[in-house]
Amino acid sequence: MVNFFTRGASRTTETTAVAVIGLGRFGSALALELMAGGTEVLGIDDREEIVQNHNGLLTHVVRADATKAETLRQLGIPEFERVVVAIGGDIQASILTSALVLKLAVPTVWAKAVTDQHGEILTQLGVHHVVYPEKDMGKRLAHLVRGAMQDYIEVGENFAIVKTMPPKFIVGTPLGETRVRATHGVTVTAFDRAGSGWSYTTLDTVLEPNDIILIAGTPDRVEAFSQLK
Ligand code: ATP
Repeated sequence: MVNFFTRGASRTTETTAVAVIGLGRFGSALALELMAGGTEVLGIDDREEIVQNHNGLLTHVVRADATKAETLRQLGIPEFERVVVAIGGDIQASILTSALVLKLAVPTVWAKAVTDQHGEILTQLGVHHVVYPEKDMGKRLAHLVRGAMQDYIEVGENFAIVKTMPPKFIVGTPLGETRVRATHGVTVTAFDRAGSGWSYTTLDTVLEPNDIILIAGTPDRVEAFSQLK
């Protein structure tokens, strides 16, 4: 088996390169996005068809069973700074692979969990970042379906960022005079105006009716604010 770092990738990439284990829909989208942003990616999957489909799209793709310690060592996993375990459906494989990657002392390990129980086990193992793509997307969609928001991102426990239209009372007046933070508990952080793109707001920003705004605050406050006409 070929080590990623002796197979073309320079040693200087080892601090930036990412290994993605499991190239299902989630792992594949993640690996391709990393590549699009200029990050070198080693993709690992145990299905030949999946490996073939990613050939030429990632820096290197290997067909291998990630639940084998020796295989991970041969692939140079201990030299990676960041590894993502993107196996979901096969919980046993996800847990075993995560435990092995942690044992190889990779400094930052991300893993996908499909249930809360799965996530708890990964956290107990010591996985540094456990993500719940299906659960997070479902929660996010609930906010979008219910409100007038164009996008909703929950940042941590009790803080969210929302893309929405400005209610009438903050249009045409400098933001500093609207007292929007004091009265509604949200901060208008940026706005998008046709032809000019996104800009940060200042106290002097005067919004126009067709602008799109980015607001930040607690989930209940940003949701209530996005429903104002
Ligand atoms: P998605 O929703 O992202 O498609 P999933 O959770 O439904 O993911 P899984 O089948 O759990 O999909 O895993 C994603 C990928 O991980 C699959 O392409 C699968 O072949 C691969 N995979 C599963 N087990 C292993 C393993 N032991 N070693 C390497 N790859 C594996």
